[in-house]
Amino acid sequence: MQRYFGNIIGKEAVLAESDQFHLIKVMRARVNDQIEVVCEGKLFLCSVESIKPLSIKIITRLKENNELKNDVVLIASLLKGEKLDLVLQKATELGVEEIVLLQSERSIAKIRNLDRSFKLERFNRIVKEAAEQSKRTRLPLLYRVIKFDQLPEIRADIKLMAYEGEKGSTSSFLNAVKSVKSGERIAIMIGPEGGFSENEVNEAKEYGYKTVSLGKRILRAETASFYALSVLAAHLERK
Ligand code: SAM
Repeated sequence: MQRYFGNIIGKEAVLAESDQFHLIKVMRARVNDQIEVVCEGKLFLCSVESIKPLSIKIITRLKENNELKNDVVLIASLLKGEKLDLVLQKATELGVEEIVLLQSERSIAKIRNLDRSFKLERFNRIVKEAAEQSKRTRLPLLYRVIKFDQLPEIRADIKLMAYEGEKGSTSSFLNAVKSVKSGERIAIMIGPEGGFSENEVNEAKEYGYKTVSLGKRILRAETASFYALSVLAAHLERK
């Protein structure tokens, strides 16, 4: 069943224009068709009452929670081209609560102020579509593009920096994952194509980040994100 993130006003669900278009033109909705609408973390079963004008009525609240038990923040260094789009999509499917974009020293890609809001709007469309497809009941936050010295602004109880210089045993990463307590927020930071500089590693450690290895091989940045988030999600959903 199609799921949309929208608003609930009284007994009606209200969708964004783009979603209204999708429902009517792409899904070719008919009266009495049912859809799911998520609003502020709550999931509703709804029915199409009329097409012109579009009217969607709430049938009932659904009790479903597909969210991870802990908040996971991915701090993703900017990457060139489609790679970042893929990271945003997969991070959303893997349950992140927030994605923070990091302008690190060796990031080839840059987000200049003038095209920042346009890019963030496109990135949030990717996140929204992935959240709807993966049946999330919460839209991951994506609104921050930070420089390295702004890392202290990211609140987390466990702060991990996947550092290629540590490559080898994954015990440090797995032990950190296993040590996560209920309610704790975990941040995992992934470098750009060129990796992290030594200065960045030292600075991250000053901010309380622990460097961890993701194994003996050098992973592409996007692979490293998928790998780290998959291990985290698998552990957090083991029971
Ligand atoms: N330019 C670096 C090099 O050749 O050594 C590789 C950087 S890698 C493409 C991009 C990011 O993925 C790294 O900064 C790190 O965050 C993560 N990464 C890749 N392989 C890793 C590993 N074996 N252990 C920890 N982090 C890894």
